[in-house]
Amino acid sequence: MPFAATILTLYPDMFPGPLGVSLAGKALSRGDWSLETVQIRNFGRGKHRLVDDTPAGGGAGMVMRPDVVAEAIDHAAPEGDKRPRLMMSPRGRPLDQDFVRGLADGPGAVILCGRFEGVDERVIEARGLTEISIGDYVLSGGEIAALVLLDAVVRLLPGVMGNALSGTHESFEDGLLEHPHYTRPAEWEGRMIPPVLTSGDHGAVERWRRTEAERLTAERRPDLLRR
Ligand code: SAH
Repeated sequence: MPFAATILTLYPDMFPGPLGVSLAGKALSRGDWSLETVQIRNFGRGKHRLVDDTPAGGGAGMVMRPDVVAEAIDHAAPEGDKRPRLMMSPRGRPLDQDFVRGLADGPGAVILCGRFEGVDERVIEARGLTEISIGDYVLSGGEIAALVLLDAVVRLLPGVMGNALSGTHESFEDGLLEHPHYTRPAEWEGRMIPPVLTSGDHGAVERWRRTEAERLTAERRPDLLRR
């Protein structure tokens, strides 16, 4: 079974969005992965299908109701669905390439996109949602965060990138940022391609790339080296 994503959202029109074009879009049309959206409002309460209410304890904004969200989750992922249940959230575990790889190796994901101030804590606990953050800033909703997560996963799925991924050292694959890239022309605005890259000495190229990767990582992301 190909990777199956189910997105719970108040804005299903945002999907597949940017994942409908380029390699991810072609892979979606081929059936190399699947994407289903569930409109949370369909589980809303009353004539107006309300999905949110005022925060207990007072304060600004609205909170998504646990009963509404739980019904949407239970509809999307009934008992026995083995896929991880995620919720996009600035309080979550920071998304990284290890987590992305783990997801890509699995059956798919059920992803809740929050809106407003967030989601009632009880449904996060009761349905065992793993909160995932895409960075230390606040978005207006979880949809773009879910698209970011899926983009990172889909490009790792078998067949999606063709040969493009094979044999390359990408950023984070070995705990380092990637080395710099160059292509033709050999000289551009007086700048030359580093001669080692056109020397034909594959061993020297590999050593240069490794050294550059280490230098860039030390300079820009010393935290990665410490890990
Ligand atoms: N009041 C919350 C922010 C709510 S933002 C707080 O201070 O923590 C509304 C929704 O956008 C969230 O429920 C979440 O689904 C999404 N979101 C916002 N920032 C995000 C981030 N950095 N990573 C992932 N999802 C995010």
